[in-house]
Amino acid sequence: MLGICKLCDQEKELKKSHAIGRTIFNKVLASTDKNVLLNISPRKSKILSTNDQWDTYQLCADCEALFNKQYENYSIQAIRGKYDSVQITETRLGRSFQGLKQEKVIMYVLSIFWRAAQSNHPAYSGVTIPDELNKYLKYIFLENKDVLPNFFNVRMRAIKDEMQLISKEGLQKVLISPYVYKENKNVKYVMLFEGWYFEIFYLKPSFKERKKYGFLRNGKKVFLAPFIDFSEIPGLMRSLVHGKAITDSIVL
Ligand SMILES: [Zn+2]
Repeated sequence: MLGICKLCDQEKELKKSHAIGRTIFNKVLASTDKNVLLNISPRKSKILSTNDQWDTYQLCADCEALFNKQYENYSIQAIRGKYDSVQITETRLGRSFQGLKQEKVIMYVLSIFWRAAQSNHPAYSGVTIPDELNKYLKYIFLENKDVLPNFFNVRMRAIKDEMQLISKEGLQKVLISPYVYKENKNVKYVMLFEGWYFEIFYLKPSFKERKKYGFLRNGKKVFLAPFIDFSEIPGLMRSLVHGKAITDSIVL
């Protein structure tokens, strides 16, 4: 399909693009009998099963490759523990990483949100970004720059489930589609996949908040992704209550 690529703005053949990458979907879909994954949408208080990959025509092949090469391939493999250069250790507080290129993961998370905001797939209807930020992000993607911490801060936490609402394997298969909400005068973009909870802080969090574990930082060798309980995720419990489908679709 010919169209204007959302990143380079040129008229080109467009590919079916994913915001949350195909590899995430493949991992989940391959391991479920019914070929569905659970899409929890706290914004709409809905839980849906899905077997589509939320892809739409929005990027040319070059721009698609740019996201994979610059951020996605590394980040997914690294947080899955596939690299010898990245050591992951479970501690009392969370999962500790040695050797993680945090700046790549920051950009990976931002690139998902940017693509979600461009997408006209209903799963991503909860995400929009203002024009000037759109321009700024396009610039740093195309020029392969790091984002300035004054603009976005990204926190990554590891999900645990004290109440055992879902099996441990099941947790890996829950995907919360990106959504936006307001908290403490800030705006947060959040999402969950493969047992990781990601938040982008639109405004710079307070110094006190930034000192807590979980904020990814450029150029630092050690990172701790603290645990967050499943039940503490904003809006999630409400969705679980409304979405009685959870027990049907998540016999995982
Ligand atoms: Zn392009």
